[in-house]
Amino acid sequence: MNDSNEDVLIKVYDNKLKNITKISINKLIPNIVAAQIDIDYEFEVLKVQSIIARTMIIRKAKLFGGNGCEKYKDADICLDGHCIQYLDIESLKSKWGNDFEKNWNKLLKAEEDTKELIITFNNKVIDPKFHEVCGGATENAENVENHKIIYLRKVLCENCKQSLYWNNKRELTIREIEEKLGVKIDKISPIYGPDINGIIEEIERDESGRVVKIKIGDKIFKGTEIIKQLGLDSTRFGWNPVVFRFVTRGKGHGLGLCQYGANEMAKKGKSVREIIEYYYTGVDIKKYEKKNKDKPLSNKVIVIDPGHGGEENTGNIGNNGLMEKDVVLKIALKLSKILKDIGAEVILTRKEDTYVSLNERAKISNKIRPDFFLSIHMNSFGNSSISGTEIYHFRGDKEGEGLSSLIIEKLSEKIGTINKGVKTADFYLLRTVTTTAIHLEVSYITNPEEEKKFMDNYYIDLAAQAIAEGIKEYYEYH
Ligand SMILES: [Zn+2]
Ligand SMILES: [Zn+2]
Ligand SMILES: [Zn+2]
Repeated sequence: MNDSNEDVLIKVYDNKLKNITKISINKLIPNIVAAQIDIDYEFEVLKVQSIIARTMIIRKAKLFGGNGCEKYKDADICLDGHCIQYLDIESLKSKWGNDFEKNWNKLLKAEEDTKELIITFNNKVIDPKFHEVCGGATENAENVENHKIIYLRKVLCENCKQSLYWNNKRELTIREIEEKLGVKIDKISPIYGPDINGIIEEIERDESGRVVKIKIGDKIFKGTEIIKQLGLDSTRFGWNPVVFRFVTRGKGHGLGLCQYGANEMAKKGKSVREIIEYYYTGVDIKKYEKKNKDKPLSNKVIVIDPGHGGEENTGNIGNNGLMEKDVVLKIALKLSKILKDIGAEVILTRKEDTYVSLNERAKISNKIRPDFFLSIHMNSFGNSSISGTEIYHFRGDKEGEGLSSLIIEKLSEKIGTINKGVKTADFYLLRTVTTTAIHLEVSYITNPEEEKKFMDNYYIDLAAQAIAEGIKEYYEYH
């Protein structure tokens, strides 16, 4: 835990001054909240938004393991709208006029009342998505961003029914739709309009194309009746759609917190915690902790899974009798020690030469929900000249991919194996473990030179160190 009076300085790129300055995180928050939410919302919601703003900054700040701003190198965040919304004091004064003092004091108090609080999930800083009005239910992350985020789950929100955006509409002509989407919509012959389900159906024409009978809505008309009633010139007529009315419900992407709904909850007396826990599934609200330089992996929970084990499951065996189950257990035990030394909490699926089923291994991990699950193996092939390192992750697991590429790089460099690449696979554990998981094939035990290496503890230690380095490097920036 950091010293609570210590000011955390954030490196901020100011696009007006065109330079990077260090600004206290506390000083940044009111201006961000002012830009992110309606100032007339309930005070509790301004507090919620202050926690969200702080969470967004901490998630980016390099001091806390973030990536910083990708646009302006060396900055943690920028104020040009790329990283975060922001309004400077001058803009706020002109926006609020006589209300400036009153509004500004509310923002300062909201920041003060929530000091150091951020939203975490499983000890990791969350991506606190929010939007203006959800329109009845928030969204599952995978429907918007193509990947699953456990705390961004759909929740029902009856709270925003009073909002102006509960129902809204926008009319667009065919031409506008074509322009905006860059598509071409086939022109329908104006003389032979097609059926439009539920609106215009059962069209009967004579051989010269004149409408004899037509069903519009729930009623059938003669062609001669229709032209009279609609004021058309001829029974030889067709139609084509020109304008579409799109009816929308809600405003924004629908992920995470619904601000309008949060405001309604606050009006009903719900607390900051209740509001945050409602819209972000399974999260914690706690004070941030600065990274300890000697313990870069503190806060990380890692499950190491030495493959195989026991009498019945030796795994692959080398020509000289070296067994996969023994090599991977040795690497796992050494790796566990290194990771613990740099702050990680490590859990092994087996610590001895025992049989543990795949199902049991998945269960151990899913109960703990670690940051990272690592299964360690040695490969085999009929042709003993084949060697190299391979790593597998589940399709779409970006973290798994990131970790894999660093680990494979370090491993092939340190133990001198061929880097055979990071691949995706549908292995049982990759599929079943609910957190980021990778399957590592350190080397080929069937290759005599490789087998000889791993009979030697020197190479066992080297492999463990290389894996640890890859993990450490990954989390230094994530
Ligand atoms: Zn930026
Ligand atoms: Zn809502
Ligand atoms: Zn194996």
